[in-house]
Amino acid sequence: MPQSLVPPVTLSVVTPMYNEREAVDHFVGRLRPVLDALDVAYEVVAVDDGSTDATVSRLLQLRADWAELRIVSLRRNVGHQTALRAGLRAARGDYVISIDADLQDPPEVIGEMLAKALTEKVDVVYGVRSDRSTDTAFKRNTAGLYYWMMRRLVGPWVSDQAGDFRLMSRAVVDVLNELAEPRPVYRLVVPSLGFASAEVPYVREERVAGNTKYPLSRMIRLTFDSVTGFSAAPLKIATWLGLLSFLLCVVLIVTGLVAWGTGGVVPGWTSLYIAVLLLGGVQLICLGLLGEYVGRIYMATQSRPPFLVSFDTATTAPDSVESLDAVTVVADTRPAA
Ligand code: UDP
Ligand code: MG
Repeated sequence: MPQSLVPPVTLSVVTPMYNEREAVDHFVGRLRPVLDALDVAYEVVAVDDGSTDATVSRLLQLRADWAELRIVSLRRNVGHQTALRAGLRAARGDYVISIDADLQDPPEVIGEMLAKALTEKVDVVYGVRSDRSTDTAFKRNTAGLYYWMMRRLVGPWVSDQAGDFRLMSRAVVDVLNELAEPRPVYRLVVPSLGFASAEVPYVREERVAGNTKYPLSRMIRLTFDSVTGFSAAPLKIATWLGLLSFLLCVVLIVTGLVAWGTGGVVPGWTSLYIAVLLLGGVQLICLGLLGEYVGRIYMATQSRPPFLVSFDTATTAPDSVESLDAVTVVADTRPAA
């Protein structure tokens, strides 16, 4: 169906999904009644982030009796933020809500978000976690550290309780879709744009099924993306460390001269190798920091597409989806729930 013939929608609900076969039935089961009760035209954009389990085939089954469910399948796994990016590009609604597929963000809050956006005439409504007690202590502590650092580096507008569960107006989504940076971290970019916003509190629930797709390595990568995306401050660390070692060197020269004048020498080679190792270490760290920025400049100049869509059920006839030769839909052998 050509894009122009698609009826306009008021609300798009964007959900990145990576190997969420375990969670998808629970998710659809809770989301659908909420959206049906809203009395607005809506679409659910389920972005399959290169799942290798039966997520896509299950979604295609579910779509058979839920026409508003739209599946945008990516050719490979590109990570949560980039999958979200694909969903924001695809979304057609006047308002777009991003929500996780594991029901940690309760869909029941969606109505309140939309109502707030309409009555208070704001462009962004953040879902704000009023309670994270269901997260592990490790997750809470690392998240606390992350937001503390981001507030210092990025600015005071970063809320430590707002993740990626939020509503955005078309104006905000259009700005986000124009961003040229390779890997924007939306939870920092959106507040930095300065659109009028409101908040809706919610209780962070436990993941309904399956495992977290955010191992420590991904969290570290998100942290590097967040820091380099907003601040050049780490580059100045080199300047300060250089200055510090220069001052230290001056002190040591004076100590050496005094020792020499009084007929002695600075003892041993321990002092020598400590100085050499320390400076070597500091220099490598500074080079590494520089490398983080240079790497991103390199990626930006390559300007490769951040994701490739394998199929989108809004623009491909449903019966031809499975016959597309580019599509590998992992068969779902389990009985329908
Ligand atoms: N996700 C994704 N691609 C990935 C990793 C995660 O699309 O490479 C999705 C995942 O399916 C879920 C959301 O991002 O809908 C958040 O992931 P998860 O719940 O595993 O993260 P956590 O809540 O543990 O931080
Ligand atoms: Mg989760």
